[in-house]
Amino acid sequence: MKNTTNKKPDKKKNSNSSNSMLIWFAIIFFVIASFAFLPDESANEVEISYNSYKELLAENKIKSASIENDNSFHGELFEEATLINKNGAEFQDRKLFVVFLPADYSEQISIWDEKNIEYNFEGEKIDWTGWLLGFAPWLLLIAFWLFLLRRMQGSGNGMNNVFSFGKSKAKIFSGKQKKVKFKDVAGCIEAKEELEEVIAYLKSPKKFEKLGGKIPRGVLLVGPPGTGKTLLARAVAGESNVPFFSISGADFVEMFVGVGASRVRDLFEQANKNAPAIVFIDELDAVGRQRGAGLGGGHDEREQTLNQLLVELDGFENSSSVIVMGATNRPDVLDSALLRPGRFDRQVVVDVPDLNGRHEILKIHTKKIKIKPKSVNLLDIAKGTPGMVGADLANLVNEAALLASRRRKASVDNSDFQEAQDKVLMGVQRKSMVLSDHEKKVTAYHEAGHAVVALFSPEADPVHKVTIIPRGRALGVTMQLPIDEKHGYSKTYILSRLAVMMGGRAAEELILNEITTGASNDIERATSIARRMVCEWGMSDIMGPMAFGKKNEEIFLGREIQSHRDYSEETAQKIDHEVVSIIKNAQKTALQILEKNIKLLHLMADQLLEHETINESDIKLMMAGNKISKN
Ligand code: ADP
Ligand code: ZN
Ligand code: MG
Repeated sequence: MKNTTNKKPDKKKNSNSSNSMLIWFAIIFFVIASFAFLPDESANEVEISYNSYKELLAENKIKSASIENDNSFHGELFEEATLINKNGAEFQDRKLFVVFLPADYSEQISIWDEKNIEYNFEGEKIDWTGWLLGFAPWLLLIAFWLFLLRRMQGSGNGMNNVFSFGKSKAKIFSGKQKKVKFKDVAGCIEAKEELEEVIAYLKSPKKFEKLGGKIPRGVLLVGPPGTGKTLLARAVAGESNVPFFSISGADFVEMFVGVGASRVRDLFEQANKNAPAIVFIDELDAVGRQRGAGLGGGHDEREQTLNQLLVELDGFENSSSVIVMGATNRPDVLDSALLRPGRFDRQVVVDVPDLNGRHEILKIHTKKIKIKPKSVNLLDIAKGTPGMVGADLANLVNEAALLASRRRKASVDNSDFQEAQDKVLMGVQRKSMVLSDHEKKVTAYHEAGHAVVALFSPEADPVHKVTIIPRGRALGVTMQLPIDEKHGYSKTYILSRLAVMMGGRAAEELILNEITTGASNDIERATSIARRMVCEWGMSDIMGPMAFGKKNEEIFLGREIQSHRDYSEETAQKIDHEVVSIIKNAQKTALQILEKNIKLLHLMADQLLEHETINESDIKLMMAGNKISKN
């Protein structure tokens, strides 16, 4: 493969953080604004000192007063005057003032009588508006908080949502939906057999119990993503005609502590009421991860949920006919308590389909589209798609149908499938990318180099297609397809692969006497394979069959994040040395093959420049020294 080097700069901006900033600003604004609205009482009454009061009294300026039971004297003057408050500030044209009297002011009363001041005594006045306004910021905050809560809940049913956390979110498949049957699931023969037994039990639980047979209560579907686990579970529901409660592990995880556990309880309560029934927990690893592995430490929310799940699994031992099914693609991270007898004790493996399986899956999915009669050979497509799972194949068929409709064809034919396959396997064609003539020439020799080395290396996969039309991130692609599925690889095969990877760069060097950045991806992949040969597969003669470096699995993150070095500095140097020598040998091998077949290399590069894409039969022609004749 030859790469483009201009990676696009990452333009992801944090629009999220600016959003929450806005919310905070809004909150702060509200708080400040509401304090500003508080009544400023000093605007009406000036709080003066006791001395000033005595002066006013002596000057006979006070007309009337009311004394409250906190000893405050609220006075009114005969006419407006300039008042000085107890802090020394001046207030002009004021009539009202307040002063605090000594605890025992009985002496004062006689003075007031003497001066003919109207006075009365009142209980402390409560300033209702002020009081309410004082609460305003809190009310606003609470309202705002409720509003946020509702938004987080997905705002669907308004207020109801806030109070329905603990309900399980399980969906019930009822008769109205289109039922999935076993015949809609291709392959997975062993898995289906196991599940048939479960279905037979659900159809007549009494019969089984009479015979004293013990049926597994928990069935765990295990397999890589896209292999049809969810589909299979739905097929069980469709076949058995019992209520089917389906929930995804992620639905248990919520913002509030304890919600997950109560959802589990609710789910099983519902299932028990409707027994016989099936409970299906998809993506079980979301709740079922090993306990005590969280980065946040000990007893977290997820653990509570898992504990509740374990309790419920034990709960309905023999009392009811509820079967629990789970699906996961990470059985290795599941808590071992989940896999104990009596819980998910039966594991059903749903594996990547083989040739026959892929053929069957293609048959099922092509039934839904209109295919030109006799034009498409599904078996050939199945052969050309090793390693693809059901979801990929469904996608492939869909792509082909889309291509045909884009070309306004009445039905889907072979060329649509071919292009869809190329698109899925090698990335989208980038026709808009214009290469200079020199770039094209370099790419043609680079890809021809890969192809020629592949043709003459022992055990190498046959070359399926070579193209210099840019696809995805690559300027050109050489595609090899294995003859049949491989489950393990020999050292010869791997060395051949390394040679093929180095073939691109070697051809550039040999013919054009320059090297380009286009080989960066080849080199990266080759280096990683070479290192694994030494460190994992024990394929180095010098280092011997030893595994170097222990992988640390961080279960909470779900993947291996570091490889722990368990060897000395000296060994590390030796390993590096071995890796370098493996790569250099592969390069040498590639160069030798190319030198020996330089005529074929020139011919192939030449033909690539002319036709842009060549396939297996074209290559056979060229091996015999002929040019390709295309129409
Ligand atoms: P998983 O749950 O294992 O990740 P799914 O069951 O969601 O995979 O499969 C995704 C889609 O792929 C299905 O909806 C179906 O269209 C297709 N598919 C996968 N496996 C099969 C199969 N064995 N037979 C038919 N279709 C399949
Ligand atoms: Zn390459
Ligand atoms: Mg799934």
